[in-house]
Amino acid sequence: MNNGFAPFEDACLTVAHDESNAYDAVVPPIVQTSLFTFNDYDDMIASYRGEKIRPIYTRGLNPTVRMFEEILAKLEGAQDAIGFASGMSAISSTVLSFVEPGDRIVAVRHLYPDAFRLFGTLLKRMRIEVTYVDGRDEEEVARALPGAKLLYLESPTSWVMETHDIAALAALARRHGVITTIDNSWASPIFQQPLSLGVDLVIHSASKYLGGHSDVVAGVVAGSKELIGRVRSEAYPYLGGKLSPFDAWLLIRGMRTLPIRMKAHEQSALAIARRLQAHEAVEAVCYPGLANQLPNGLSGTSGLFSFIFRDGVDIRAFSDHLKLFKLGVSWGGHESLIVPGNVVLAQKAQPNSAVAFGISPRSVRLHVGLEGTEALWSDLEAAITAASSG
Ligand SMILES: *Cc1c(COP(=O)(O)O)cnc(C)c1O
Repeated sequence: MNNGFAPFEDACLTVAHDESNAYDAVVPPIVQTSLFTFNDYDDMIASYRGEKIRPIYTRGLNPTVRMFEEILAKLEGAQDAIGFASGMSAISSTVLSFVEPGDRIVAVRHLYPDAFRLFGTLLKRMRIEVTYVDGRDEEEVARALPGAKLLYLESPTSWVMETHDIAALAALARRHGVITTIDNSWASPIFQQPLSLGVDLVIHSASKYLGGHSDVVAGVVAGSKELIGRVRSEAYPYLGGKLSPFDAWLLIRGMRTLPIRMKAHEQSALAIARRLQAHEAVEAVCYPGLANQLPNGLSGTSGLFSFIFRDGVDIRAFSDHLKLFKLGVSWGGHESLIVPGNVVLAQKAQPNSAVAFGISPRSVRLHVGLEGTEALWSDLEAAITAASSG
């Protein structure tokens, strides 16, 4: 994608542009159809023979979904991308395209909980083994890589926000002939473009920042023509987690504002993280933006982070006193949200990644939305005060 402008301006141009030019409409139409018809027998047989690339059935190819895939591929600097009905569908289809019984995956600890559960249940039943490593420890990663098929990264991780030197890990994997995938949902392509750091496949939960309005559940994977071709021909058509045309249309709409939304999330989250860090009721704040220097490859920080309260703060009272921050899972939308660590620890799902990864019962995860920094800080400050008295 290099238009010769700074990466941020490039991204703004990419999401603003509609190459389809359909009906001269400024907003592209939704091709909301399950199937496509043919002019005649010859037209149909030519399509089936693959002599013509055209839509036949929406699970295979749909123009609106394709438009979303092309925009995301450009943002990630990828040759190709595939949209999915959810982030988990993108994760499971991608992983299953590259491993078979007896294979091993090396994964960073603190994975997104349902990815962790996929690895610990379904993949385990298929005799696919997963070695968890501390991604900050390159020697530990190097020791685990020989003989593995896939290196599965997520950086930063989605609760304690551990970050990794992605370029260094991807180079290690390449040396061992291991394919590297990364869950890039937290940073979005605006703040991190892993393919440029040597990663092979980039996965997003598009339900988060790409959609940005909390009205879509979707996913996507981007990478080289060859690797995406493998996902497209192996797991994708048969697992069938197709992104719907309407959801693709919502994603295209949402991505128009992705660059400026990311800047706004960053600005507010950074201000709030700094004030929390300075607050006497707070023991620690886990936000990569607070480091002296951003980790290699990350050019900005999003709105999701966690912090740990000191003893003496009633987290239930804090949660119930908030007005702007709503209690809710997920993140990446316009709205501010919190999840108390203790709530995640109470979850019955097995295997329980919250326990496995030591989420502190005194931690709270925040998503800083777009309501405005001062209003959000007032809301937090009042809730902390109310929860600290007595
Ligand atoms: C939400 C999320 C997923 C899963 O995406 P869905 O769209 O909910 O299936 C994967 N990875 C991360 C980091 C997430 O936050």
